[in-house]
Amino acid sequence: MLVMTETVQDYLKAIWMLDRTGSVSTSALAERLGVTAASATAMIKRLAGVGLVRHEPYHGVSLTEAGTQAALEVIRHHRLLELYLMQALGLSWDEVHAEAERLEHHLSETLEARIDAALGHPTRDPHGDPIPSPELALVDENDRPLSDLARGMEAVIRRVPDGDPELLRYLAQLGFMPDERVIMVGHAPFDGPLTVEVGGERHAISRELADRIRIEGSP
Ligand SMILES: [Zn+2]
Repeated sequence: MLVMTETVQDYLKAIWMLDRTGSVSTSALAERLGVTAASATAMIKRLAGVGLVRHEPYHGVSLTEAGTQAALEVIRHHRLLELYLMQALGLSWDEVHAEAERLEHHLSETLEARIDAALGHPTRDPHGDPIPSPELALVDENDRPLSDLARGMEAVIRRVPDGDPELLRYLAQLGFMPDERVIMVGHAPFDGPLTVEVGGERHAISRELADRIRIEGSP
């Protein structure tokens, strides 16, 4: 029997996050969690031993159904807490992620339900990430990177990366926030910056940043 410690929850959450962008290697996991490859390997063995992950040589690590449920539970806590801290306590959108990272491990089911009700059963957190339902179902995400938007086309910002406060302050300053409309004005050649209009103003942003902002809408 493995206790759901903070460390275990952080591993499951990290595997879930990495899994969305492809297969999860031990080294990618170790890098994300800031641990050595040896300790990641040891933990993966323990998690596999209790049926939370599968580890197949050459195929990396993946979550079992039980592991997925445990990861989504923590993610639900995290995203509800972010919204609650912002709406109820007035924290800014660049502060809530770090606080939610701590509190997500300590939220009881009762408090989770009360926060959910107090917020009116929200479906997205302040950064646009979908909040898993109480049954831990997650809506399909149809979003794609802003960098994919063709010239002259318009779309709506769905999600922005939540973990870097400085980046969030910058995005807010330019107006790149969920539900804002954006128009792709132009792509500079040779991997140069993209010019994007948001809130009636044009901004040049790097392709790398545009890859991390997710949009929905026209091709
Ligand atoms: Zn967050």
